[in-house]
Amino acid sequence: MSEIIKKARVKHGGRLQGRVVKVSSKKKSFETPTKAPTSTEINGKRNISFDGPFMNPVFEIAQRYLKIENVHSLHRKNGVFSRKISEINAYADSLVDRYLVKYFPQIPNGIELSDRDIRTLIDLQLESNINLITIPEPSNDCSPEIFQKNFTDYWEYIAEVKPTATAMPYLSLKQDHELFDNKLNILKEYEHSLHTIGIKFASMREYRPNLMSLAEFSEYDFWVHCSAGRRVSNWREVSPGGQLHALQRYGVYTVSIEIPMGGGASDKDYTTTRYFNRTGVTIPQIIKSVDSEGNLQCGCPICSGQNLEDVAGNLNRFTSDKRPLRSVVSDFSKVHEVFASTSEFDVSRQKIKEDSLKDYFNEKEGLKDHLD
Ligand SMILES: [Zn+2]
Repeated sequence: MSEIIKKARVKHGGRLQGRVVKVSSKKKSFETPTKAPTSTEINGKRNISFDGPFMNPVFEIAQRYLKIENVHSLHRKNGVFSRKISEINAYADSLVDRYLVKYFPQIPNGIELSDRDIRTLIDLQLESNINLITIPEPSNDCSPEIFQKNFTDYWEYIAEVKPTATAMPYLSLKQDHELFDNKLNILKEYEHSLHTIGIKFASMREYRPNLMSLAEFSEYDFWVHCSAGRRVSNWREVSPGGQLHALQRYGVYTVSIEIPMGGGASDKDYTTTRYFNRTGVTIPQIIKSVDSEGNLQCGCPICSGQNLEDVAGNLNRFTSDKRPLRSVVSDFSKVHEVFASTSEFDVSRQKIKEDSLKDYFNEKEGLKDHLD
């Protein structure tokens, strides 16, 4: 039984010009860049009973651990481990026959994971219906030696227990630049045996030096996935850039969003819900994305150019005391973003093939900031 990912090869592009990587697998083979929808977005679709399928090649099931105690409870409290598996499989069972399915434990930065924590998080995936196995980094300030020992040991363990699965060691973007560089240098030695690595997102502005190193790393044949991506750097902006689309310049090929903290939406007005705009690759309020007749300027399967007021009227049936119209419209917007963002990656992939990613960034209001 061979593992699910057969190979990852850089096909087009260059440093800071984006890369098309072809990932060959026993499921759907695909080319990057693209978006990997998460359980959060699948929930959005279920909440509003939208049937149109997401056709992406990779899905990420994320679970949030707010504190280290939540990780500990996986191996210190009876029942928690099996409950988590049921939650994961509630998503994975319907996807795993056709797609690559990965798991991401969203754990705050600065937490140090013990060997027992890591082992348990890996067992959780091995016993679930997951075919890409995340190997967590012990901590974002661990030494390169510890990083290497951790992922090589668990890589071996995964190969023994579930030979069909592919290992994906994670590296936090939020760490000292020299450490980050040294860890990337170690990973380079495993080109063509290790097919994929995961990056845990952090502020693109603050950790830009690390992103520059990733851009250099991109000449090696790895599929680099980013988890816990923050959709914008600052929600106070009127029309913030969709920064997850900027990551493709820095050698990140597939992206997944973070599980949002929720709450906070004191604003009851549904028209201020954020909505991904393909024209500018920005995330303005939904009311700013309609034409003079109030129609959404998007042809994706869920928007299909409908009138925003009609959309809101139809969504009203999903509201309740706990779920005001604004959060239902927000679910609609999440589903739209999966379709629209994926289509926009299709466009930029073509631009990379034409060696014109820089021109493309220049034309997009939300990406201009990410040009040198
Ligand atoms: Zn749409």
